[in-house]
Amino acid sequence: MLDQTSHTETSRDTDASSFDSTAELLAPLPDEIRRHLYYTLGIHENESDPSYCYSALATAVRDRVVPYWRETRHRFRESTERRVHYLSLEFLLGRSLNNAVQNLDLDAEARQGLHQYGVTLEEIAEEEHDAGLGNGGLGRLAACFLDSCANLKLPVAGYGIRYEFGMFHQFIEDGRQVEAPDHWLRDGNLWEIERPEHTKTIKFFGHTERCFDEKGTPFSRWVGTHDLLAVPYDMPIPGYKNETVNTLRLWKSEATETFDLEEFNSGNYPDAVVQKNNAEQISMVLYPNDASENGKELRLKQQYFLVSASMQDVLEKWVDQYGEDFTDFGRLNCFQLNDTHPACAVPELMRLLMDEHKVDWDSAWQITTRCMAYTNHTLLPEALERWSVALFSRLLPRLLEIIYEINERFLTQVAKKHPGDTELRRRVSLIEEGDQPHIRMAYLSIVGSFSVNGVAALHTELLKNGLFSDFYRIWPEKFNNKTNGVTQRRWLSHCNPGLRNLLYDAIGTEWESDMQHMKKLVPFADDAGFRHKWQDVKLQNKRRLAEYVKSHTGVEFMESAMFDVQVKRIHEYKRQLLNVLHVIHLYDRISRGDTKDMVPRCVLIGGKAAPGYHVAKLIVKLINNVASVVNADPKTKDLLRLVFFPNYRVSSMEIICPGTELSEQISTAGKEASGTGNMKFMMNGAVTIGTLDGANIEIREQAADENFFLFGLDAKGVVEAKKHYDPNAIIAGDADIQRIMELLEGGAFNQQEPGIFDLLTKGIRSGYDQWLTIADLRGYINAQAEASKTYSDQDKWNRMSILNSANSGWFSSDRTIQQYADEIWGAKPLQDS
Ligand SMILES: *Cc1c(COP(=O)(O)O)cnc(C)c1O
Repeated sequence: MLDQTSHTETSRDTDASSFDSTAELLAPLPDEIRRHLYYTLGIHENESDPSYCYSALATAVRDRVVPYWRETRHRFRESTERRVHYLSLEFLLGRSLNNAVQNLDLDAEARQGLHQYGVTLEEIAEEEHDAGLGNGGLGRLAACFLDSCANLKLPVAGYGIRYEFGMFHQFIEDGRQVEAPDHWLRDGNLWEIERPEHTKTIKFFGHTERCFDEKGTPFSRWVGTHDLLAVPYDMPIPGYKNETVNTLRLWKSEATETFDLEEFNSGNYPDAVVQKNNAEQISMVLYPNDASENGKELRLKQQYFLVSASMQDVLEKWVDQYGEDFTDFGRLNCFQLNDTHPACAVPELMRLLMDEHKVDWDSAWQITTRCMAYTNHTLLPEALERWSVALFSRLLPRLLEIIYEINERFLTQVAKKHPGDTELRRRVSLIEEGDQPHIRMAYLSIVGSFSVNGVAALHTELLKNGLFSDFYRIWPEKFNNKTNGVTQRRWLSHCNPGLRNLLYDAIGTEWESDMQHMKKLVPFADDAGFRHKWQDVKLQNKRRLAEYVKSHTGVEFMESAMFDVQVKRIHEYKRQLLNVLHVIHLYDRISRGDTKDMVPRCVLIGGKAAPGYHVAKLIVKLINNVASVVNADPKTKDLLRLVFFPNYRVSSMEIICPGTELSEQISTAGKEASGTGNMKFMMNGAVTIGTLDGANIEIREQAADENFFLFGLDAKGVVEAKKHYDPNAIIAGDADIQRIMELLEGGAFNQQEPGIFDLLTKGIRSGYDQWLTIADLRGYINAQAEASKTYSDQDKWNRMSILNSANSGWFSSDRTIQQYADEIWGAKPLQDS
């Protein structure tokens, strides 16, 4: 944490101009590192271990970040252009040091400074804990978006929760996933500054009272509440060599003093301490469910906590700048809701405007619907959030009142447009009726927003014509697509320095801030000399990955084998099972001596299973068991390896994706909204084997059909196939698949543990298998064979690899964010001061 000065933020802002040059105040970085070792950390040069070197360098780098940060905040505050607030329950940031070093162009100086202590930048970067405040794709997307907003100098602030415990640490014991808490803040966090002066009070429980003002107009009061505090911690988000540093504001929950005092005075000291802990529970832990909701009370508290604190923060800044006139609030502010998790923003903004700022309903609604925008991330029914009315009325009674009124007015409007269609009204109601009525958070988000977007072309089409078709008919103009992207700064430049340097030599450096320039690489695919260099870079990255795998699993990867990788959350729809079935097929071929022309493969699978998701955890166990058998069999030597890579996270992906040759993107068509792992692999020159799902479709369009290994049913085919799906008939009619099932069901991978995989084998044999694993297996095996055949022609493979990378520009999150800015936010870059 930075030292707190007694100055208020505003007083520091006013003298910002006298500190606008970093060079005037700070010595060269190597001297600053030494200074921080001596004075900040109080140690002797010869005592400096990597952890002290990390702290000294990180503090020195942060000192370079801070002046730009203060300047950017100053310009943000002064600006009269539209501001954007990105609301997300998850930000999967990973590490910050390397990112800041890269974006402030301090690499050479940092290395020079560390040299005197005999450590490398790579070594000390390992000292930093990942900020794992997210589950997977959705949280990592938020992090890539913040990076791109800063790169484009857009006035965008992130708002999230400062979870004390981020994504759990995954250990593998006896092949099974074991979870351990991730206490990422244990050694302190140099990348945050506490801002206690911007603390907010958050209300829970209590009840509402109907009151009348002097003119006799009725209004509601939310009283008898249990309050707690939201304390902000700001993290810097540096732009790429552009003197811009945006802010991610994360809220920590704390007990209110008044709350505690009451208890102290009543002589109930222990209870008061317990109450304090209760208040702190809200920001204690990230819920580890990816693509499924679990309806826990604490989760709803987290959602409201984030939303209320952030909306109050934005309104407070508004009132500071414009007073109590909210006429232009909607025009000058935009809230982007990252899925329905922050959907309470709709009724909360209404509440604050009406109850706290005396705005009437119609004006408040006009403002709210002018500034809310909602991004949908999934079509999976189990992921659609619904909160029980009973829970809502106990926790957030005033919000429930407002939601009821929004619904009443909305349904009246629908009735006017479609008189007599009561069925339509029942379908689109924000309240799902039943003996346990629930609030449909997606519908609340749609009704309250001016923009609803999906995250890949196919996904948006499926939203319009499937899940949200009634709403699409009512408001076609609200719906739009924003295909996801990833930041090439982290996912190419930083994680793949070998490729970055090769690209510098070949096509220059512009692609780092504008990925359209990657297209310049296309002609190099025909240059044999370049293809050689390309292959050599890949080989270096494969060696680095092999070492990493060896040190974390003990398994040796052969550097001449094809590196075949599937890393992502473990979920049935992502079909890690399909991957395992193919590995079993290769193992069966080896066992039978059918190895003529077999291309050696090293298969890596990694990812976390939600702790309560039994089937996903069983898939982890199966992967580990198959790996044990395959790797221990001398016949597989030089031909096949399988590992389950433990504790997959951002910093491991930074080593995995540069070393990958074949990217597995094999979800059941229509289930993966977009995927972003697929994009990281493509940028780094992996070729995709995949279904026509999510952004795979666009990857194939960009790379061209011949540079993509396609297989399987498409989204329509999936719907069709389910009507008469008979996996047992497919198995019986295919000798290869039959043998795979015989190995699996005959206990080849669970000799000591009979029956443990029955749930999985029964699942894939069931006519009701939602994921159609067996339906796609033959196509998958054939596409894998095609990939192997292509790989044995290395020249051809390298061509495909180069063309994938060269055509990956579309998947930069800079492109995505430029589209959000132009088509949803109407946001312009902050002017330089
Ligand atoms: C990119 C990324 C994801 C998303 O992967 P998908 O394959 O799109 O599901 C998940 N986790 C981490 C750590 C990532 O970096």
